[in-house]
Amino acid sequence: MPSAKNPYKPKTRSSQNKTAMFPTLHEDVKNNLSEYSINPEPWFNSNENDRTMLEDYSTFVMGRFECHNQNCAQRGWGSKKIAITIQRFPNNGYNAVVFKQRCKSPGCNRLGRLRLDKNSYVERVTYRLKKWAGIPMETPEYDGFEGGPPHLSKLCEGCKAGRCQMSVGAMASRFRSSTYGHRFLVAQYNE
Ligand SMILES: [Zn+2]
Ligand SMILES: [Zn+2]
Repeated sequence: MPSAKNPYKPKTRSSQNKTAMFPTLHEDVKNNLSEYSINPEPWFNSNENDRTMLEDYSTFVMGRFECHNQNCAQRGWGSKKIAITIQRFPNNGYNAVVFKQRCKSPGCNRLGRLRLDKNSYVERVTYRLKKWAGIPMETPEYDGFEGGPPHLSKLCEGCKAGRCQMSVGAMASRFRSSTYGHRFLVAQYNE
């Protein structure tokens, strides 16, 4: 993007990245886990694509996106279905990849700048780490995130990467008993 108006602004990759990680929220996650003795203590793996990943789990967090395209009338939008993939690594390592969404305004398609709802993130991640640590939990994971605008897969980077619960890949594995349904969905998606 042209940056003539801000010639000294460093070119940050962050606004171009399709994903975001929040290592600073590890402190909050740790605080939430402090009453449980998980050994070794969970640590945040800052390598998003670390191949030592043992398993992952995709769910949603909430937040807002801002559109910083000056030619776009859309200031931003809220979402209760922002895709997040929590990954588990050896020795209780973990990280959480949050997938950005694109602006739906006609002709825009710019990646939104993410304003994460911190509480939903900490709650999601903490729940998953407890689950992986084998800690029994009374309440089942709330997976609904009902309400809010519909999830638009073509604007969701998680869907594009096949790592969003709403995406074809995830749907296919959830309903893999139906081969026909799988093929139909893939065909529909690729059109
Ligand atoms: Zn826009
Ligand atoms: Zn999605």
